[in-house]
Amino acid sequence: MLHEPLHFRFPRSVNIQWHSENAAPREPTSNEGLSWHLRHAVHCNCCHLPGEVARELGRRQIFAYVSDPK
Ligand SMILES: [Zn+2]
Repeated sequence: MLHEPLHFRFPRSVNIQWHSENAAPREPTSNEGLSWHLRHAVHCNCCHLPGEVARELGRRQIFAYVSDPK
């Protein structure tokens, strides 16, 4: 399996400001949707990456690793 799942190391929390400025996409597996989910994983930690999004990222061979900055 080539796809490396996103790793969350921050405590679960909602970045309300980011969400207010970034409306969730209607099509999670569209270009816009995948971009939103990748940016969301960096800026917010309120929910897991949906399975269909993770599969689509893997199909397109897009990999990301999000970790604690320190
Ligand atoms: Zn969020």
